[in-house]
Amino acid sequence: MSALSKVWVVSEAPERFAKLGAVGRRLGERVEAVAVGEGAAQAAASCGAEAVHTVAVLEGGLVEDWAAAIAGAVGEHAPRAVLFAAGKRTRLMAARVAAELGTRVLNDVGRIWVDDDGALLAEHMVYGGKAFAVERVREGSAVALLTEGLLVSEPAVEGAAREAAVSELPASAAASARLVERRPRTVESVNLAAARRVVSVGRGVAAQEDLALVDELAAALEAEVGCTRPVAEGSGWMARERYIGVSGALLKPDLFVAVGLSGQIQHMVGANSAKTIVAVNKDKNAPVFKQCDYGIVADLYEVLPKLSAALGA
Ligand SMILES: Cc1cc2nc3c(=O)[nH]c(=O)nc-3n(C[C@H](O)[C@H](O)[C@H](O)COP(=O)(O)OP(=O)(O)OC[C@H]3O[C@@H](n4cnc5c(N)ncnc54)[C@H](O)[C@@H]3O)c2cc1C
Repeated sequence: MSALSKVWVVSEAPERFAKLGAVGRRLGERVEAVAVGEGAAQAAASCGAEAVHTVAVLEGGLVEDWAAAIAGAVGEHAPRAVLFAAGKRTRLMAARVAAELGTRVLNDVGRIWVDDDGALLAEHMVYGGKAFAVERVREGSAVALLTEGLLVSEPAVEGAAREAAVSELPASAAASARLVERRPRTVESVNLAAARRVVSVGRGVAAQEDLALVDELAAALEAEVGCTRPVAEGSGWMARERYIGVSGALLKPDLFVAVGLSGQIQHMVGANSAKTIVAVNKDKNAPVFKQCDYGIVADLYEVLPKLSAALGA
């Protein structure tokens, strides 16, 4: 397998650089980090990058402003890949950078590698998770958004820190949007993708207060709680950040417990990379039983308290 000549990793979140740097190191002979904002520069320097480019964030600055600076520098330095960790703001930033470069984003990449001919290959889900597509980029700068699943499973590079040359990218000449007001968001902060154990609940739960049964089981397992899309977006019983699947979080936990959910593909693509899947459903024909390692055909209202008690909750 050959390597790309140069890979850029971009983030405004310091904690992202270790894994982004590890992916960059696996793909490229040379890794350069782009740190958006002051807080990210230190972490960027210790991720194994040979060079760090900083992007100053001005008071009231928006994602839109940094994208132009990054795209300008990509055009000049010509890295073969520009890697972002998938997230709401990075999705916007990657799209802007790609548009400025006249290319498009390789979205939600779950696997990324370089072939013997030196082309970049990126795998992502298509058709609502029913299939995978592999895209091959032979030349130019590929812009890719990497899934949390990919980053979590990427082994960190030991002793990666090195002396990196630091330079500042020129700020964009003009702001493309104006910040009018900042308001704190009242959303839950949950990082399901990083959880090693997850209990996911579906429409089999009849009332919001019954979610306490699920919380109890999750506590006994020291697991995070997730859900299917209808539980978050239909009934609104859980935050959007907690739903799992093709349009939600994509996970790779050690243990995934599916409670009162049917196992539709759109949900299970977010879970079927789990090492062990346990399902509880009262319908023995539910599709989830074809995808689990252990299945319990039972009413969740009877079995959850027993499981929690057996686990010592
Ligand atoms: C484009 C698109 C994208 C989508 N993206 C997502 C996504 O990212 N994530 C997602 O989750 N969904 C997604 N969906 C929706 C998805 O197709 C399913 O509709 C959804 O996952 C079903 O949720 P559910 O399993 O909770 O509900 P249901 O399919 O209604 O299943 C409920 C299950 O609970 C069982 N049950 C009922 N009562 C009990 C009980 N007392 N004890 C035990 N079991 C019980 C039933 O037997 C049934 O199997 C998407 C759909 C589309 C079209």
